[in-house]
Amino acid sequence: MSHTAELIAVGTELLLGNIANTNAQTISQSLSALGINVFWHTVVGDNPDRLREVLNIARRRADIIITTGGLGPTYDDLTKQTISAAFGKPLVLHPEIVEDIRRFYESALHVPMPGNNVRQAEFPEGCTIFDNPAGTAPGCAFEADGVHVLMLPGPPNEMEPMLRRHVEPYLRRLSQEVIVSHDIMTFGMGESSVEELLRERMEHMENPTLATYAKPSEVRLRATAKAPTMAKAEAMLSPVVKEVTNLLGDIVYGVDVSGLPEACMQMLKAKKLTFAAAESCTGGMVAERITALPGASQVYRGGVVSYWTSVKGAVLGVPNEILDTFGAVSEECARAMAERVRVITGADLGVSVTGVAGPDPDERGVPVGIVYIGLSAADGTFCRKMDSGRRRRDRIQGLAANHAFDIIRRYLSGLPI
Ligand code: ATP
Ligand code: MG
Repeated sequence: MSHTAELIAVGTELLLGNIANTNAQTISQSLSALGINVFWHTVVGDNPDRLREVLNIARRRADIIITTGGLGPTYDDLTKQTISAAFGKPLVLHPEIVEDIRRFYESALHVPMPGNNVRQAEFPEGCTIFDNPAGTAPGCAFEADGVHVLMLPGPPNEMEPMLRRHVEPYLRRLSQEVIVSHDIMTFGMGESSVEELLRERMEHMENPTLATYAKPSEVRLRATAKAPTMAKAEAMLSPVVKEVTNLLGDIVYGVDVSGLPEACMQMLKAKKLTFAAAESCTGGMVAERITALPGASQVYRGGVVSYWTSVKGAVLGVPNEILDTFGAVSEECARAMAERVRVITGADLGVSVTGVAGPDPDERGVPVGIVYIGLSAADGTFCRKMDSGRRRRDRIQGLAANHAFDIIRRYLSGLPI
C-alpha cells in the first residue's frame, strides 16, 4: 500500500518570512526516496487553534503527518500539547527523559536545567520516542485512527540527525516496498530536446518511472523502480539506464555522479592526470567547484583568475600581440590562456574561460553570453565557443564553468570537443 504524507511546519517566524522552510525540503527529499507521496506542505504559526484546524484537515487526506517545530520548552511551543489533545492522547511524563535533559544542560551547556524543560519530557501515551543528542527536545511518533503522527524539533541541526537515525527507519517499516533510483546525468542539450528524444519511451513507463529534472544547462534523468527487494529493483532499472544512455549518446556524462566536476575528477584520477585553470569571466568558479570535492588535490594543480586583460598578459604570459589584435574575449586568447596555465603549473591539461557575462558588452563590442573555452594538452590545443545569448550574469558564469569541465571530459573520453 502506498502512503500519503503531509508535512506541517509550525512557527510564526516561517509565516513572517524571517526564515525559510528548509525542513520541508529536507523531509520531502527523504520521503520521496522512501517512495512516500508527499501531497501537501502546510505552514502554520505558533497558534493552537489554527494548528488544530490544520491537523483536522491533514488527518482526513494523509495517513502520515510529520510536524516540525514547537517542541521546545517555552510558552509558544505548543505542538505536542495540541496534537495530543487533537488525537485524544493524554501526555505522560517520562522521568528518565527529564534526567537526559538535565544531563544535556549540565554537560553540554554547563548550566542547571530550567524548570520549564520538564515539559519536554512529556509525551503522548504509548508513543515511540526519538532521542535528540543535538538538543533537548526529543521527537516522537504514534499511530491513532490509522494515521501516523511524527513530531520533530524545528532546528535543522536537531531535526536532520533525527530524520536519518529514527524517522527513516520508522517509515521504512511501514512500507512493504523499496524504492531505488539512478540518476543519468547529461550536459549539452536542453530539457525539451531531451524529452523529445525520450518521449515515446517515457510515455508508457509506470514502474520504473523516468523523470527529467533541469538545472541551468544540465538535465538529470532519474529512473526509479519500486519492488519488494533491492535486487529486484536493480534488475528492473539496469536495462532502462542502458537504454536511455544509448538513446542520448555522448551527452550522458555519468550515472549517479553529483555533477560534471565529479565526473572529470573520476576520469582524471583513473588516468593519473592533473589539470589547471585560467579563468576570466568565471572568476574562480572552476577552481571552487573542483576544490569543493574531497580528493581534488590529486587532479587539480591550481589556477589563475586573470580578470583584467593586463593580468592575462603579465601573470599568465598571454602575448600582447594576441591581446591587442584579437582582444581578451577571443578564441586566440582562450587558447593562449589554456596553454600558458598548463605550462606554468606543469599540469597535464590546461583549461581556460574568457567571455562576457554581462550585463554590458565588452569594450570591443563582444555581446553578452559569448564565452570561449580553451583546452591545452600535450597533443594540441582546442577551443569551443559558447553563445548562451543574453541571460542573467550568474547563469552565464555557471554555464561557462560547466563547459570548462565538459571540454575536459570530452577530451578524456576521445569525443569531439
Ligand atoms: P527549540 O527547542 O529550539 O525551541 P522547537 O522544536 O520549539 O525548538 P521552534 O521553536 O519552532 O522549534 O524553532 C526553533 C528554530 O528552528 C527556529 O528559530 C528556526 O531557526 C528553526 N526552524 C524552525 N522551523 C524550521 C523550518 N521549518 N525550517 C527551517 N528551520 C526551522
Ligand atoms: Mg521553540
